[in-house]
Amino acid sequence: MENIVSDVSGCSVKSCIFNTDGMCHTVAINVGGPEPLCDTFLTGGKKGGMKNMLAKIGACKVTQCLYNNDYECEAKSVSIELKGNRAICGTCEID
Ligand code: SF4
Ligand code: SF4
Repeated sequence: MENIVSDVSGCSVKSCIFNTDGMCHTVAINVGGPEPLCDTFLTGGKKGGMKNMLAKIGACKVTQCLYNNDYECEAKSVSIELKGNRAICGTCEID
């Protein structure tokens, strides 16, 4: 069975230390529940992450999302979007 690890295709949260030019440069983000928020979102310090790397999705606790299977994301890619002051998974689909 093929295991797919989802990419973070883009992120509009420019204030996050892992964000450079709309892309996320940490190894992987975790998405928390019950709301689909990026748990790795961090502000305040100098820019971090690895410039030659684009993030994948690690664990996701939003079990009610259609893409969630056993706390892993099965969407091909995910976009993270700034809404208010929160970093939300824009790919999340809940019935
Ligand atoms: S996906 Fe999360 S950790 Fe990555 S840049 Fe956006 S808010 Fe930051
Ligand atoms: S698309 Fe759904 S399963 Fe994937 S990270 Fe977002 S909320 Fe989690």
